[in-house]
Amino acid sequence: MTSKKPLEIQCPCCRKPIEYSEAYPQRPFCSERCKLIDLGEWAEEKHKIAGSSVYDDLLSGDDPSGNGFHH
Ligand SMILES: [Zn+2]
Repeated sequence: MTSKKPLEIQCPCCRKPIEYSEAYPQRPFCSERCKLIDLGEWAEEKHKIAGSSVYDDLLSGDDPSGNGFHH
């Protein structure tokens, strides 16, 4: 046990190898930019999925059987 070797990881955003150490305050991202990009894409994707399928079902309304909606 002589020297602590920092853990090596990859930035989840750009796959750049970084050290899991104080040298990378934004770890596991290589930079704040990658962190924001990744979080932003994740949020956008989640929003898209949550929004689209539900509204597509509600708004399409052309059920070929004609029995789709009961009022
Ligand atoms: Zn990165």
